Amino acid sequence: LMQLFRPLDLLGWVYRTIRQGLIDMAEMFRLMDTSVEVEDLPGAPALIIRQPTVVFDNVVFGYEPDRTILHGLSFEVPAGKNVAIVGPSGAGKSTIARLLFRFYDPASGRILIDGQDISQVTQASVRAAIGIVPQDTVLFNDTIGYNVAYGKAGADENEVLAAARDASILPFIEQLPKGFETEVGERGLKLSGGEKQRVAIARTLVKDPPILMLDEATSALDTRTEQDILRTLHRIAEHRTTISIAHRLSTIADAHEILVLDHGTLAERGNHTALLTKRGLYAEMWARQASESQSA
Ligand code: ATP
Repeated sequence: LMQLFRPLDLLGWVYRTIRQGLIDMAEMFRLMDTSVEVEDLPGAPALIIRQPTVVFDNVVFGYEPDRTILHGLSFEVPAGKNVAIVGPSGAGKSTIARLLFRFYDPASGRILIDGQDISQVTQASVRAAIGIVPQDTVLFNDTIGYNVAYGKAGADENEVLAAARDASILPFIEQLPKGFETEVGERGLKLSGGEKQRVAIARTLVKDPPILMLDEATSALDTRTEQDILRTLHRIAEHRTTISIAHRLSTIADAHEILVLDHGTLAERGNHTALLTKRGLYAEMWARQASESQSA
């Protein structure tokens, strides 16, 4: 019975998550692999955001007790600024995203949004404040309209239209015979990587979150599409507190601050120019990527 019960439990949680319009997370964090171990404190209030600052204050975290991944990480993303996180594979970049979503609690240290410790407020209110444009967007076997609208429970037609326009996918949708009613996914229209990404952007715009997390959002696209999408992302990130997790440094060279993570500690920090001057890990990664793109 216990074996039956646990998956059902998880299903209930996933269902509630969907109802709250928070399903974006499912794609990014492969929900089914993520244990549901964080619970709201009894009577926890909702997060209230006036200035969407994000602070990691000496955060220590490991998935397993005997293997620490983040070794006392501190950084601040001021309201409306863009901070990029880079670093070698396995450095802990996605772990930061998972912690900010409170899929896990730190072993010690605090994560604050607008001065409020996210472990002291409801998870739903934390997740509602953060929008994600994941690497790989999963679309539902439903209409394009549905796929955009579901960024926010109860989104109306005008919001969906405006979001599609801002994500630069409206002209594409309007030339389809059935427009927003076009079925997409396995049973319907197949979208290209770039079109899917634009649907994801539109979905995030419908949600209209004060905090944005971009996870190397342009990894599977050709250069021109990538440039187009980057422009769109820059536009929607303006005035929002943004954390970008990047593999390719060219996409984040204009970030307010770049955090270079190495084995769970901050190896370097600064803007692009300052980091190049340091001739450290970032400069090395930059030189390597520049020579790779030249030979490509
Ligand atoms: P990449 O650039 O390759 O995506 P990353 O910097 O995002 O890497 P993380 O996914 O944050 O790295 O992983 C950091 C470390 O935590 C890795 O060593 C990884 O093996 C480990 N890790 C990640 N998820 C889990 C998990 N669910 N359970 C145990 N260890 C994990």
